[in-house]
Amino acid sequence: MISNRQLFLQHVATTSDYPISLEIERAEGIYMYSPEGKRYIDLVSGVSVSNLGHGHPKVRQAVKDQVDKYMHLMVYGEFIETPQVKLAKLLADNLPEKLNSVYFVNSGSEANEGAIKLAKRYTGRSEIVHFKNAYHGSTHGALSVLGDEEMKNAFRPLLPDIRIIEFGNVIDLEQITERTACVVLEPIQSEGGMIIPSKEFIQTLRARCTETGALLIFDEVQMGFGRTGKLFAFEHFNVVPDILTLAKAMGAGMPIGAFIAEKSILDSFKSNPMLGHITTFGGHPVSCAAALAGLEVLLEENIVADVQRKGELFVDLLKDHPMVKGFRQLGLFIAVIVESKEIMLEIMKEAYEIGVVMDAFLFCDDAYRIAPPLNITDEEIHKASEMLIQAMDKVNK
Ligand code: PMP
Repeated sequence: MISNRQLFLQHVATTSDYPISLEIERAEGIYMYSPEGKRYIDLVSGVSVSNLGHGHPKVRQAVKDQVDKYMHLMVYGEFIETPQVKLAKLLADNLPEKLNSVYFVNSGSEANEGAIKLAKRYTGRSEIVHFKNAYHGSTHGALSVLGDEEMKNAFRPLLPDIRIIEFGNVIDLEQITERTACVVLEPIQSEGGMIIPSKEFIQTLRARCTETGALLIFDEVQMGFGRTGKLFAFEHFNVVPDILTLAKAMGAGMPIGAFIAEKSILDSFKSNPMLGHITTFGGHPVSCAAALAGLEVLLEENIVADVQRKGELFVDLLKDHPMVKGFRQLGLFIAVIVESKEIMLEIMKEAYEIGVVMDAFLFCDDAYRIAPPLNITDEEIHKASEMLIQAMDKVNK
């Protein structure tokens, strides 16, 4: 009989340079199981998606309940759907006052597309400023603000009027002017290998945007929903963006994204005769039901409060290993720095053999990523760290 692995290689597109091709039959909490019953600890969370672990009972129940009621009614914005309304309200309640209007989409790329379009429409300007080593998605608009010029080459021409500047360099912020529609950034860079800018940089950026009338877009697709030890990463800097984009962990395992702004800004999508912004599936009721249950669990169980301590526990357990050259860590997003890309890949390979799954970064070769579910227990952190040490020992021989 032809195996799933063979079928996968024949018929499913793989775009990764290092396809792992691990077959998983089921997953629960921080564990994933192969059809043969091998157990893997998940330190990636589906790239910062499963912040509550796999198959949280409350999320599963919410999905089942909504499926029994209805799955899809009508194009977004036409009908009032209870899960959407409740989710928008809960998000608004947990965000600064001016982030009070939510446009739901299906993914992070779409959230950023929408945010950029909104900024152009609202300001009537076209220039977009973005940063080196940032990742914002795969669609053409999101790709236009990718922080690596070479990676974009095959897809040019992309959006015109794009300006790339250095992340963390206050002087470069002077390039934001009255011509700028928006500045797009991850306030803490994820795929860059966990790059945390200074408070001064983010606060100067906020001031510069206010001064020039450019809208400030924070992409928290990866860092939102508790990953960094705050519900949203911008809370580390005491600033509020004009538009916030979210996805990934938002749906607690279901696909959903959003861009959120002040109602007066979002209302600029309304004005006829120009077409605003349309989505068929954005804010899908089953995804909204999952997202609502997920956010309720995150808040009710006060999970975020313990995230920084847990991240520090990982660092503490791994720091003395001779393969480890350092860390960049905030909350449960940790870049473990090693000597080279080759060593990082070897460690990853050994870790998979042993049964612990971690990941590389897109723009940072000499570090591996630890980003487990946020409700991982101390005991599980000890176990995962032991396995990582075992993997690093093997490479160190
Ligand atoms: N922004 C950031 C910061 C991301 O990490 C990602 C996904 N890795 C995206 C945007 C794109 O999200 P999606 O893959 O859901 O389109």
